[in-house]
Amino acid sequence: MLLFTPGPTPVPEFARVSMSEETMHHRTAEFEAVFSDTRELLFKLFATDEVIMLASTGTGAMEAAVTNLCHDTLLSINSGKFGERFGKIAKASGLANVEIKNEWDTPASVEDVTKALRANTKIDAIAIQISESAGGLRHNVEEIAAVAKEINPDIMVIADGITAVGVERIDVANIDCLIAGSQKALMLPPGLSILGLSSKAIEKIGEGKGYYLNLASEIKKQSQNTTAYTAATTLIIGLRSVLQKIENDGGLGKLYCDTARRAKATRFALEAIGLHSYPSVPARSMTTIDDEDASKIRNILKSDFSVNVAGGQDHLKGKIFRINQMGFLEPYELAWVVNAVELSLAKLGRREFDGTASRMFNEEYFKSMLGSAK
Ligand SMILES: *Cc1c(COP(=O)(O)O)cnc(C)c1O
Repeated sequence: MLLFTPGPTPVPEFARVSMSEETMHHRTAEFEAVFSDTRELLFKLFATDEVIMLASTGTGAMEAAVTNLCHDTLLSINSGKFGERFGKIAKASGLANVEIKNEWDTPASVEDVTKALRANTKIDAIAIQISESAGGLRHNVEEIAAVAKEINPDIMVIADGITAVGVERIDVANIDCLIAGSQKALMLPPGLSILGLSSKAIEKIGEGKGYYLNLASEIKKQSQNTTAYTAATTLIIGLRSVLQKIENDGGLGKLYCDTARRAKATRFALEAIGLHSYPSVPARSMTTIDDEDASKIRNILKSDFSVNVAGGQDHLKGKIFRINQMGFLEPYELAWVVNAVELSLAKLGRREFDGTASRMFNEEYFKSMLGSAK
């Protein structure tokens, strides 16, 4: 079965092999060396002043960010399940919460954020997804962060990049906390989350909040290449191998470029066979199609073509399907996936099969090569 869900994503063989050694003790010089290498590679990926690894899923890092960086009122952007989660975390942590809510295909507007910040001066942090995985949309985080800082230079901007870090280059000029998770773009099993922090964020954290998710304790330890509690040693070994592999395979620029080409070629291919891309601004992490036959298409993809794509959640259950673009995916895998989608439409009697999807995918993905051959 080809795993094409936007999280968990496939773990490449080299990463699995790297994690197959005996468990290393975390309080040893040997592990500190692994930790130090990984930190160094993470600094290149995040481009932030500090990076912290937590033994938690992405939600743990979201909670750590909110509780440590918001001390009064959180403005959260809800264009999907993960944006909604920020608001729930704020409420569960006894913080006040203002929410900007949109349909799951609609990114937050700069105007709405401006209005909310002007209307409530108690807002001291804003939390937003870069790529909202629920509907596969891309928020304009860069502009929203810049405007937020213009209105209030002390505001903390928390950006959930769980399906964006490792997908595209992110401008962190106005971001105080950038979050990543192991099982999405970082191609690892679940259980490790990472926070990139600005120096302003470190200042605001001060003594930190909470106990396990107290970021002050982790900053103190991790800057010395150790952790406050037992490190997720095996996952960190895996992370080092993934980040080294990215570097050896042409670097982050190549990974971002290949991902963008794949995402665009996939969307063009599916649009060419009459399907509709759901989000008004698609993220590069996944291709999201809304269709009345979404469930049927997913079932045929699984039973006839061994392709596992994700469906929708909540009110989008049975209404969309999402194809992963994160990680080291080969173009031939996506060419097969779009071809399988076209065959599924033929099986449903919607459209006669003529190979348009895979042809469009190849033309778009390889257009620079085709152009030079002319
Ligand atoms: C998957 C995901 C999360 C939640 O991560 P968990 O690892 O399930 O806790 C948060 N935000 C986004 C955008 C995600 O895609």
